[in-house]
Amino acid sequence: MNAPEAVILIRQHLIDPEVCIRCNTCEETCPVDAITHDSRNYVVDADKCNSCGACISPCPTGSIDHWRTMPKAGAYTLQEQLSWDELPVQQEIAADASPAPESLAFDAVQVNAAVSPSSTTAPWSAAHPYTNLYTLKTPITATVAGNFRLTADDADSDIRHIVLDFGNQFFPILEGQSIGVIPPGTDASGKPHYMRMYSVASPRDGEREGYNNLSLTVKRVVEDYDGKPVPGVASNYLCDLQKGDTVSLAGPFGSSYLMPNHANANLLMICTGTGSAPMRAMTERRRRLLKTQAKEQNGKLLLFFGARRSEELPYFGPLRKLPAELIDMHLAFSRVPDQPRAYVQDKMLDAGKAVSELLDGDTYVYICGLKGMETGVMQALRDICKDAGKDWSALHARMVSEGRFHVETY
Ligand code: NAP
Repeated sequence: MNAPEAVILIRQHLIDPEVCIRCNTCEETCPVDAITHDSRNYVVDADKCNSCGACISPCPTGSIDHWRTMPKAGAYTLQEQLSWDELPVQQEIAADASPAPESLAFDAVQVNAAVSPSSTTAPWSAAHPYTNLYTLKTPITATVAGNFRLTADDADSDIRHIVLDFGNQFFPILEGQSIGVIPPGTDASGKPHYMRMYSVASPRDGEREGYNNLSLTVKRVVEDYDGKPVPGVASNYLCDLQKGDTVSLAGPFGSSYLMPNHANANLLMICTGTGSAPMRAMTERRRRLLKTQAKEQNGKLLLFFGARRSEELPYFGPLRKLPAELIDMHLAFSRVPDQPRAYVQDKMLDAGKAVSELLDGDTYVYICGLKGMETGVMQALRDICKDAGKDWSALHARMVSEGRFHVETY
């Protein structure tokens, strides 16, 4: 009688559909195109995935980091994964099954930070971030303490400053971290909405200093990327909230896009539109520190902020009131009638000397906003360094590895 054929096992990489916020970062990062998606789920092709781990650290929620030991012949197919609302539990594995000969299948995942030009570690002095305290299954409820329009009445966009209060519940947050908003109701297929991520716009000690609350910067989305009138589910829900309403949230999320805790570190901040949220949080943190320590002890803040017009720029009024001793600010407006279009990268080139000088020091770079800005901003940094006789590639690589170069674009 022939011996039964050995069952070969693999370590199958899976994405948790309950936690994934569909930000596409994993699909963009995967070097072997193993990750794909439909209108709802992000899934991993077991035949293509080589467990390289490049997608793990860029994932903002940790939903990417799930593994099941599976018989190679019975690995979950793409079709199966696309139909899931939650991850299946680990199956019982036959005792005589053996790992696949491809050693990678059982290796510890190696995080390949070099794939991304952004730091995957926090600044050395950053405060300890708490993450994943609340999830889709075990959310926290916050109460709306305020919802204020930030853009001018005649502005095209409705951008809002929304303050959420946690009462006596534990929800510690640091500047640069995000929270997941869980919109109520179901989507067109009758499934609960997946959560959406928003960067926090307030500092660690609260939107209102000493209070257990935080703020978000939310733009009401009225059309999709193709310009079709499709209202954004979470943004319209948030923008319509009234004082006293309650909101289900998950998080906090994010353990690398954090500010340094040593006050003499410099911050170079580059943002567009609502990408200003983390910059406001960091700037406000530094503004409050100014009250308790001599200004010479504080590092420099250099901000480049782009919007279509001043009327569309969130926090335009409050920003203008910040003292010059706190921040060197450069605003770029792209659609002011009778004026040439200016983007943040143009303003960076104009202020090349200040940027170059800051890059020589103990400086931490933060970029947030439109995905499209990345190319221009990186080119501007390269050009500024070239003009100053510096090697941007080497400096960039060093800053990334030292937790000093952080990018969050969508
Ligand atoms: P927006 O109003 O569409 O754009 C802001 C400015 O950026 C405009 O002046 C725009 O110019 C300019 N811009 C367009 N393409 C550019 C490029 N290639 N390089 C440099 N500047 C460019 O911005 P928004 O709608 O607020 O979007 C901000 C982005 O931040 C969104 O993708 C959002 O998802 C993301 N974000 C938001 C948060 C949050 O917590 N709310 C957090 C992180 C990231 P023109 O339109 O005139 O070309």
